Amino acid sequence: MIEDKSPQRTPIENLGEFGLIDFITKNFEIKQDSTITGIGDDAAVLNHTKSTLVTTDMLVEGVHFDLSYVPLKHLGYKAIVVNLSDVYAMNARATQVTVSIAISNRFPVEAVNELYEGIHMACNTYGVDLIGGDTTASRSGLVISVTAIGEQDAGKIVRRKGAREGDLLVVSGDIGAAYMGLQILEREKAVFKANPQSQPDIEAYSYLLERQLKPEARKDICKLLEELEVHPTSMIDLSDGLSSEMIHLCKHSEVGMTLYEDKIPLDPTVITACEEFNLDSTTIALSGGEDYELLFTIKQEDFSKIKANPSLSVIGHVVDASYGINLVTRGGEQIPIKAMGWNSFQE
Ligand code: ADP
Ligand code: MG
Repeated sequence: MIEDKSPQRTPIENLGEFGLIDFITKNFEIKQDSTITGIGDDAAVLNHTKSTLVTTDMLVEGVHFDLSYVPLKHLGYKAIVVNLSDVYAMNARATQVTVSIAISNRFPVEAVNELYEGIHMACNTYGVDLIGGDTTASRSGLVISVTAIGEQDAGKIVRRKGAREGDLLVVSGDIGAAYMGLQILEREKAVFKANPQSQPDIEAYSYLLERQLKPEARKDICKLLEELEVHPTSMIDLSDGLSSEMIHLCKHSEVGMTLYEDKIPLDPTVITACEEFNLDSTTIALSGGEDYELLFTIKQEDFSKIKANPSLSVIGHVVDASYGINLVTRGGEQIPIKAMGWNSFQE
């Protein structure tokens, strides 16, 4: 489907590997002082004055994305964002990225360019430099691997470990929307397969689709916490779903947690879509992934600094490990939370 969209279809062979690299990277500028040498040499040269953070994620066609409903530009944008999210989840500033792609010859140059337009847009939005990568042929699907680099004072880095009994559990934004966006896209794909003449019925769901197709990383939350003078005791980003990220924080911090069902922030369209799909919204919030919100713990004494903020919700608290990880339902029932998040090794 993607192939049919571009009016022009220049085979990659026409440009060759080096011509392609030049073509897709020519519009990228260097913005960070710490980038000494970017694309074009055998290695990039960086000069960070603080501790350096490095994180990598790989996106594989058919496993992490489906090109029949994800435009390449959105895919490029998302590939950068999900990596930056990991840097922000350490309370660090993202500064550079590398992008490696394995691509089959079914993609014309125009398609690769579309992918890089999304990458370019994300680099500009978040102020990071594209400093290198690798380009190779693929015999099957498209693979994109991004490495994000960041920096932060050693003492300000926030890890998964560090939560203490009595701390408050806080989440930014609202959750479950990206998963419901995916449900809408999959439904529309099935409808389209059955009847290619059908017009997609997606207007009411624009927020959900945006959260799935064009997620944002919460750079702003790191800044907000700094302004509020709140230093989280532990932090993680929500890529696989609330339950599995809570389990990560608890495991690394050697604590338990209590989550309150009525405190989970849900957008009204998530609730509407859940009703339509006959899904339980709490289950979606716990297991649906790809929200890229930040989940963190703070000391109780910091509560007054964050309580009035519409971007932050206190959803629970940290307890001793012996209590385990539990959900307190609206009815007051206590249910153990198990990992139900998205996992690419499950079918
Ligand atoms: P080498 O053979 O020395 O590894 P390459 O020919 O692979 O060099 O790459 C040349 C330059 O282009 C390097 O700076 C590399 O980081 C950059 N580069 C290669 N592929 C990409 C890509 N897909 N995106 C961004 N930069 C790339
Ligand atoms: Mg190379």
